[in-house]
Amino acid sequence: MELPKIVLLGPPGAGKGTQGGLIAEYFGIEHITTGGALRINRELETEQGTPGSFIDRGELVPDAIVNEIVEVEIGKVEGFVLDGYPRNKEQAEYLSTITEISNIMYLDVAEEELIKRLSGRRVCSECGENYHIEFHPPRLDGECDLCGNKLIQRSDDEAGTILNRLKVFSEHTKPVLEYYNNREGFVRIEGRNNPDDVWEDIRNILEMGDGK
Ligand SMILES: [Zn+2]
Repeated sequence: MELPKIVLLGPPGAGKGTQGGLIAEYFGIEHITTGGALRINRELETEQGTPGSFIDRGELVPDAIVNEIVEVEIGKVEGFVLDGYPRNKEQAEYLSTITEISNIMYLDVAEEELIKRLSGRRVCSECGENYHIEFHPPRLDGECDLCGNKLIQRSDDEAGTILNRLKVFSEHTKPVLEYYNNREGFVRIEGRNNPDDVWEDIRNILEMGDGK
């Protein structure tokens, strides 16, 4: 059997990281994230410079470089699940020129639920342990179970930033969804359920083949 080549799409807070990890482990394929691919290929020489040179200047890495490093990572493996890529229509079009995707899975979660998930996240200021005020609260309010230090909210998860992240997502990723919508292998997954149920849905679809 050919290993699946999966694109996993979804807004921030939809659970892409969790589900991508489960898919990769279960099917024995690579979980490729844009962040991970950038770290691995930090020093890769491209026409526009290395990815690291943009990261060090605090600039967004240009599409052309992101495309190139994703191509490098895809070229190393037989099967993969892409998480965080493609994040706009141009990247989706590029991807179609370098490989044939077997499944496109969109984790759909309503905006109110995403806001609840993201705004409840807390992280230990010392050891980095993750919490959620509603779904995974610490034993003592605001204190880390492991080391007793103060829990903080990452600036990424503050209310104003969350709304902005969701807005950026809709602007760039809606065209990606439209691009994939009528393709073979596209499926929308209800991502509101708990992670175990979402995983079961995903696994069933992938084991059936093309999701029909
Ligand atoms: Zn801690």
